[in-house]
Amino acid sequence: MSNMMKAVVMRGANDYGVEMVEIPKPKQNEVLVRVKAVAICGSDPKIFNGGFLKANWPPYFPFTPGHEFAGEVVELGEGVTGLSVGDRVAGEAHCGCGVCENCRKGLYNLCLNYGKIEAGHRHYGFTTPGAYAQYNVYNVKALTKMPDNVSYEEGSMVDTGGTALQAIRLTGITPGGYSVVFGPGPVGLFVMKVAKAMGSNTIVVGRKERLQFAKRAGANHIIDTESGEDIVAKIKEITGGIGADEVFETAGSQEAMLQSVRSARKNGKVAILSLPVQDEYLLPVKTMVMNQIAVFGSRANPSCSKDVLSLISDGRLDVKDMITHTFPIDDFQKALDTFVNRIDGALKVVITP
Ligand SMILES: [Zn+2]
Ligand SMILES: [Zn+2]
Repeated sequence: MSNMMKAVVMRGANDYGVEMVEIPKPKQNEVLVRVKAVAICGSDPKIFNGGFLKANWPPYFPFTPGHEFAGEVVELGEGVTGLSVGDRVAGEAHCGCGVCENCRKGLYNLCLNYGKIEAGHRHYGFTTPGAYAQYNVYNVKALTKMPDNVSYEEGSMVDTGGTALQAIRLTGITPGGYSVVFGPGPVGLFVMKVAKAMGSNTIVVGRKERLQFAKRAGANHIIDTESGEDIVAKIKEITGGIGADEVFETAGSQEAMLQSVRSARKNGKVAILSLPVQDEYLLPVKTMVMNQIAVFGSRANPSCSKDVLSLISDGRLDVKDMITHTFPIDDFQKALDTFVNRIDGALKVVITP
């Protein structure tokens, strides 16, 4: 094996391309993974255009982003147990320090040593090198072995699927009840699919191609935001005048946040999963209090990978239909353009390095 590989290297805002770089070496408790599939995340275009530089993503240049990946273990670092060369693994972005109070509780998405490399924290593709490359090193904590019948492309959907599952764990799902998803993007569609698999009647609010996709993917009801209908009134009508048991906000707009709380039933639960662009939004607090509605912020996907892989492997969660395009790493720019501009109905775009 030569010691060089192809990687997407970012040298500044809007300044990136495929370059030859050295293959990294795995250190203590790390393995070298040959990246087989890496999906473009909604956060990636903003990383590439410098939109997250204020948040210190990335913290330095040159830098390689990418975090929704699956691959094959090709080399073990010191002290690795539980993984072998040849293992097929799915990855996740967050890797906690493992020793802080939150990590010990399993809340490694909220590690108290966030960003501290020396403490062992990693946020692959955000604060530490990511997967838009032919190889990358990962701590064993960020990897989950894949069942044989799950492909690498499907494995690259585990991070997004886990983000949906995490919100559902926070709200719970009422089998036989109603759930609403605002925003039929990849995360919203995964929420709908998992909620449906758990026995919920699903309602998806959105527009255009992606709303039609939601219908094809099994949503029980769709509501078009361009229809001019009163969205909350329509949800009340579908739910027999009561409102939804669980509501998931993935659209990220002020309007959707207000509608999310207002379309929940009394004692209902709302999860906000969209990555907000600003800190402050309005929420209908009187409705929250009088109807006793719980609103959860939901971040990332701690300890979700194994369950998502099991849902995929058992055929209860179809992720294949979410992958609309695949590109080799040399066509990275074309892949990013396809994703950003939703060319040919692009939903999830996967790079196969
Ligand atoms: Zn992501
Ligand atoms: Zn920690």
